[in-house]
Amino acid sequence: MTRVLVIGAGAAGSMAAVFAATAGAETVLIERTRDGGRKILISGGGRCNVLPARVDESRFVTDSSPNVLRKMLRAWPLAEQRSFFEQTLGIPLVEEVESAKLFPASHKARDVRDGLLQYATSKGVQLRMQSRVTGISPERSGWGVTLEDGEGIQGDAVVLATGGLSVPNTGSDGAGLGFLAALGHEIHPTYAALTPLTADAPAFAALSGVSLPVTLTARSAAHASRAQGGFLFTHHGYSGPSVLDVSHVAVRGHLGQAPRARIEVQWTALGDAEWEKALAPHGARTVTGALRNALPDRLAAVLLDQAQVDATRVLAELRRDERRRLVDVLVRGELPCTGDEGYRKAEVTGGGVALGEVHAATLESRRHPGLFLCGEVLDAFGPIGGYNFLWAWATGRAAGIAAAAHRARAAAITANPA
Ligand SMILES: Cc1cc2nc3c(=O)[nH]c(=O)nc-3n(C[C@H](O)[C@H](O)[C@H](O)COP(=O)(O)OP(=O)(O)OC[C@H]3O[C@@H](n4cnc5c(N)ncnc54)[C@H](O)[C@@H]3O)c2cc1C
Repeated sequence: MTRVLVIGAGAAGSMAAVFAATAGAETVLIERTRDGGRKILISGGGRCNVLPARVDESRFVTDSSPNVLRKMLRAWPLAEQRSFFEQTLGIPLVEEVESAKLFPASHKARDVRDGLLQYATSKGVQLRMQSRVTGISPERSGWGVTLEDGEGIQGDAVVLATGGLSVPNTGSDGAGLGFLAALGHEIHPTYAALTPLTADAPAFAALSGVSLPVTLTARSAAHASRAQGGFLFTHHGYSGPSVLDVSHVAVRGHLGQAPRARIEVQWTALGDAEWEKALAPHGARTVTGALRNALPDRLAAVLLDQAQVDATRVLAELRRDERRRLVDVLVRGELPCTGDEGYRKAEVTGGGVALGEVHAATLESRRHPGLFLCGEVLDAFGPIGGYNFLWAWATGRAAGIAAAAHRARAAAITANPA
């Protein structure tokens, strides 16, 4: 029987352990925290957005080949993943229609974390909690894993699922990336992604707490991203799904991995032509009145100020240059941004092990047979909406199945080297 050691009982590692054990391997799941799956617990505001209701693969971000990424994702299609949670784990999912997100019907993230780990143990997975791995090394016939207290554990194959660098108090501190770099893998530079942005714009700071749906476009010479969705002014800057979704472009600009980014905001659903019409020069309505239906009053006042338009001006008296400036601010306003909240608040880590370092179908390292990688250690992340669990579940399952088959595959190759 193949003995598989899975390191990290987060989303990807727990799924890998389930499928390794289901495929018949003796499976040990090694986790540094007391209980594992802590990001699952805090995900979706404690409700766990398990999956998206629909997938747009083009929204994933990687510096590796998008084709390889798609191949890895498609190995476990969304409908099958959904069925695994509902039929196999017995956790019914419901769609939040306005956001196209799937949540457990109980709206309790704990049900997902506990359901997954209980199912793993029911399949025979041995849990080793409070066991921090400090090193992994290839041995003559398999792999050795060293724990913090010096204990060594041997296995035929290792699945490394230690996550990235985001929200380190959930247990992931980048240790796995260090092990993989030491073993010679190419690691693309890591950066915080899906993180709030900071700003030093006094007019906007006064709007803290105001929220509205917007469209954001972030661009640097190297990267671009566009997102529609909720936007929130905070004490320190901006948050909300649209901000998180484009934040990686700004973060990479701040880190100097790319030129500084510019973020444009379209504050309402109306474009140039619609606003030109809404602000047409007739009637006794004031500009403030014309903006009132489309924007929160306090934001409208700040935008009028930015466009240098008197808030009490009636539309009939609005000059063409004033209207032009106001439409520009409404449709292509600049979002001043000085930095980001970094890994402390980032929902995921961008960058990581180059996807070309693993075989797409098995997630096995091309450099070290018997070593399998899954989840956030790999160079890929998706937008808000369940995409990152989709990635963790898909890659975790594939790595678990392939690790369980490792001995048989290695024996077949030895017997038949051609
Ligand atoms: C606040 C927040 C909300 C989120 N909400 C959502 C959401 O609703 N939907 C969504 O799709 N995604 C969400 N995400 C992203 C999602 O949680 C991650 O993409 C996903 O958890 C990554 O899974 P992983 O298994 O690769 O890594 P992790 O979940 O980080 O798991 C890694 C595990 O490895 C363990 N570990 C690390 N190093 C060692 C070591 N040396 N020895 C032993 N164990 C180790 C850690 O303790 C941890 O348990 C959210 C993230 C955050 C931070």
